[in-house]
Amino acid sequence: MFRIRFHGRGGQGMKTASRILGTAFFMEGYEVQDAPIYGAERRGAPLFAYVRADKSAVNERGIISHPDLVVVSDDTLVGMPAAGVIQGIDQHTVLLINSHEKADTWQQRLNTQAMIIILPAKEEVEDRAELPYIGSQCAAAAAALSNVISKETFTCALTEELEHLGNEIVKQNLKVALTAFDAMSSYAGAVKESALPSATDYIKPEWINLPFENAEISAPAIHSGVTSVEVRTGLWRTMRPVINYEKCSGCWWICSTYCPDGAITVRDDKLPDIDYDHCKGCLICVAQCPPHAIESIPEHLAKEQEMAKEKDITKEQKQPGVKS
Ligand code: SF4
Ligand code: SF4
Repeated sequence: MFRIRFHGRGGQGMKTASRILGTAFFMEGYEVQDAPIYGAERRGAPLFAYVRADKSAVNERGIISHPDLVVVSDDTLVGMPAAGVIQGIDQHTVLLINSHEKADTWQQRLNTQAMIIILPAKEEVEDRAELPYIGSQCAAAAAALSNVISKETFTCALTEELEHLGNEIVKQNLKVALTAFDAMSSYAGAVKESALPSATDYIKPEWINLPFENAEISAPAIHSGVTSVEVRTGLWRTMRPVINYEKCSGCWWICSTYCPDGAITVRDDKLPDIDYDHCKGCLICVAQCPPHAIESIPEHLAKEQEMAKEKDITKEQKQPGVKS
């Protein structure tokens, strides 16, 4: 059985990628299971989708814990524990990463025996949640790596899955996807079906008796309170809201009330302040601010600006009064 996990951010089309790949396997005569898993979160948040494909019935269910192939559409997710990219990878796994960096760099960084293949990333785009066509590229690359899906079959599967979006969109997706398919030709067959025990012998019971449980057993358990502060949802952000205090009119009850994560507090001088550890970048505050005093900037640019600022401060501390 092929066990394939796709990791991406909401909005990058990884759910669609799993559907396209699943359909392509199906067209090649495989039994297929494909499904996405994500919470109630917004675009930009980590999510994953998976595909199981086998020549006999697929009885396995749930998360793939030992994948044959892991496809990562956004390399910023690799080091993020909540994304779970490296969970269960071993020397049998192939890790396909959409990245500007080299495979060796990732190999050293992750200290893994898994084979790493790079799907060359396009130049930086403003909003990483909108890497154009990345879902189709990832699906095509995965198909090529499996070496059991022909280019023609992949073309049919992509067309079938995207035809509701119109011919032009299908054409554009096919163009980039087939380029990715060809780019993987030297690695064709790198992904092998693992010999892991599967649930093929599973015999479906006729009846499952679920005994009644009283509330303290069956209700969800909360083991400790006030833990949300520990979850740094700010790590998911792809766009950062920045307040321009020169434009801000101090109507803090608007932005602080609209923020779904309570990440906007009010300072002593009655101006709003954003807690970037917990701001997830939904940009609702940007849309709601009456005088448009909140701008959004790509997270990577915000980080570059922060680093440049820190450098200036260090320089200033070393040479007080001397400006370069
Ligand atoms: S809504 Fe806009 S103008 Fe009002 S306090 Fe918030 S940032 Fe300032
Ligand atoms: S983008 Fe604005 S509204 Fe959304 S979480 Fe951050 S501060 Fe709150």
